[in-house]
Amino acid sequence: MSHCNTKFFFERAVCPICASRATSKIYECGLTSSPIKDLISSHYRSQGIVDWSLFDGTDYELRKCDDCKLIYQKNVPNDHVLDRIYNEMIAPDGLDRLEEERLTIDNFERLAGELGVLFRWCARINGKHPSKIRFLDYGFGHGRWARIARALGATVFATETGDAKKAIAAGIGVEIISDDDIDRMRFDIVHTEQVFEHLVDPAGTFKRLSAATDGIFKLAVPHHRNLEATLASKGIPKESPFHQKQITGRRLSMADYTYISILPLEHLNTYSPKTIDYLTRENGMRVVSTKRKSSVALVPTDLGSLVRSSLKAGAMAAKMSLPRDTGYYLMTPA
Ligand SMILES: [Zn+2]
Repeated sequence: MSHCNTKFFFERAVCPICASRATSKIYECGLTSSPIKDLISSHYRSQGIVDWSLFDGTDYELRKCDDCKLIYQKNVPNDHVLDRIYNEMIAPDGLDRLEEERLTIDNFERLAGELGVLFRWCARINGKHPSKIRFLDYGFGHGRWARIARALGATVFATETGDAKKAIAAGIGVEIISDDDIDRMRFDIVHTEQVFEHLVDPAGTFKRLSAATDGIFKLAVPHHRNLEATLASKGIPKESPFHQKQITGRRLSMADYTYISILPLEHLNTYSPKTIDYLTRENGMRVVSTKRKSSVALVPTDLGSLVRSSLKAGAMAAKMSLPRDTGYYLMTPA
């Protein structure tokens, strides 16, 4: 039996996707024991302050569902601890700065190119002009995607808590709605980018968002390659890949992404294609694409930029013939 301090955490006793009791433990370590303690400590070192008293007496326990193949953290933070993680351990001013730095022309073109693909899918499914599209950005963050959906002419809604985020939303013409409002509304595009790995009740949220979708439901999450084999051969690293990247600027390896997919406290669910098969079947949805595609802008400022951007277009064409990515799904009502 793993330990769970019920003052701050609660146990997910069955698979949080399919409710199966047939699950197997694949890793266990106290949150305040090495190497998980070292991983947490390095991960938040440059982001904020860790209050270890929240984590005493609770184990990081990874389980895998034998039925839908979800890998999940059994012990999950309660609302109080979630608030502390996302507002103290990840300090808002550092995140504000990072998000502002991310507003580059390259990122704009990448995100706009992907939203262009989503809007075209919508036109194909329900014939809607961009100005008629109702777009829900579930987990809006700093509005990187929402501001581009607005620029395309859509009416954009978002769910987010906290006055600072609401002010950002108002400034870019996005209407903040409460989570309960979703059940009374319809959307042509439901957009979730790096959200479902964080959810304590992913099956419930998937059900509600599916029910509110008239066109396209996008779900993008971190993916892993051979998580169990990586854990068996290399164990858990003491240094967070995020922290190493920030310090050295090096590119993340496939093993790094595998570890990020099971990040303690934050990435509570890791999806396999089988998990998504289960969710879509149960909720009357079907998958229409599993590749992150983006229309690519050609940059005509000088010959070098034009050549580089043409190569990017070539790379996108090559990607279309590769096997499916994991971690990216566009779905529509079946
Ligand atoms: Zn399951």
